[in-house]
Amino acid sequence: MKQLRKTHQREIILEELCANPTHPTADELYERVRRRLPRVSLATVYRNLEILSDLGIIQKIETAGRQKRYDGNPERHHHIRCLHCGRVDDVDMAEDSEFEIKMPERSRHGFRVMDVKVDFSGICPDCEKEARASRSNAH
Ligand SMILES: [Zn+2]
Ligand SMILES: [Zn+2]
Repeated sequence: MKQLRKTHQREIILEELCANPTHPTADELYERVRRRLPRVSLATVYRNLEILSDLGIIQKIETAGRQKRYDGNPERHHHIRCLHCGRVDDVDMAEDSEFEIKMPERSRHGFRVMDVKVDFSGICPDCEKEARASRSNAH
């Protein structure tokens, strides 16, 4: 069997990431990539994800206390995270005009804003449905 080239592995990892809108963790992505590359290791998937994000081709979503997730879309956009299952979805928002920063008078000398990052959190539709089902079962 022909040995797969490293760049080919990376392409498949990227393809699987872009095909998955839930911003998978390295573990979740590994499960998918393994169906196409049965001999790939989790370490390889992880290393390639790190390389791709260093290159700015994908982005990393880091949340304290949670596994890192990866996003095939490198453009700046906002995310919402489910507090229950941890899945992450994109939030569509108009320009950043809504985030005009009001600094108190005393800190006028302060920051020039270069970037803004807003993290929404909530309950995803699946978890909401589950919660509603278990509530009605309790009756
Ligand atoms: Zn959820
Ligand atoms: Zn995203």
